[in-house]
Amino acid sequence: MRDLSNDSKLLAINSATVKPWSLEQLVEGCARAGIAAIAPWRDIVQACGVERAGKLIRAQNLTVTCLCRGGMFPAADEAGRRAALDDNKRAVDEAVAIGAGSLVLIAGGLPKGSRDIDGARRQVRDGLAAFLDYARTVKMPLALEPLHPMYAADRACVNTMAHANDLCDELGEGLGLAVDVYHVWWDPNLRREIARAGKRIITYHVCDWLVPTKDLLLDRGMPGDGVIGLRDIRAMVEATGYDGHCDVEIFSAENWWKRDPAEVLRICLDRHRTVV
Ligand code: ZN
Repeated sequence: MRDLSNDSKLLAINSATVKPWSLEQLVEGCARAGIAAIAPWRDIVQACGVERAGKLIRAQNLTVTCLCRGGMFPAADEAGRRAALDDNKRAVDEAVAIGAGSLVLIAGGLPKGSRDIDGARRQVRDGLAAFLDYARTVKMPLALEPLHPMYAADRACVNTMAHANDLCDELGEGLGLAVDVYHVWWDPNLRREIARAGKRIITYHVCDWLVPTKDLLLDRGMPGDGVIGLRDIRAMVEATGYDGHCDVEIFSAENWWKRDPAEVLRICLDRHRTVV
């Protein structure tokens, strides 16, 4: 397992962590803090302008671990599925333009009015298969991120590493995994499924699970403030040969988003070295 106690090179900052910073502010803020990698969301890349975002990132020599995010495949009708595919193609083009290491995907949930989760999961499989055809042509790896089951209805009906591994087995080259501790820490099969994932793990996201969690989406904790065995999970991930970054991704409307993002960066760096 890698020693991070003096490291700053393996820390990446997900743009959600320093909301409301723009891409320009994220790039400048990380450069100023000595942080060498970022993981932006599409909204700030688009607000900056995709070409310009790529230039700013290259000018500071920043690594882009991944672009967040595409996916959301199920829809109520064919037009909706086609719109999702078109948007995913735009997302993968954006990922190429900013030099991202991967495009993170979440599955999507139930179409409006549906009670058919098996059907939604079939749509995810079919959508992924169709999208992979395109992503392979531009050589952008796709990182499927299983989300915690509490999001099965509205965000992602792929909720376990086992399910995500099954999809990788079926769909093959070009599809890998994003492991986000927030979503998978509780899984009794985590060790086995991370080992099974092996080289498929493309990107690794950290934060913490607070007790109590007051909001299903916007109350993630800073690493070290919750109950996730971060060191244990990182050891499992690194045992597969993963040598990439640890992306800090925190949605926190009532705490971290209310603080000075520059201070948040300092705390992320400290926690990266001491608890991640
Ligand atoms: Zn994530």
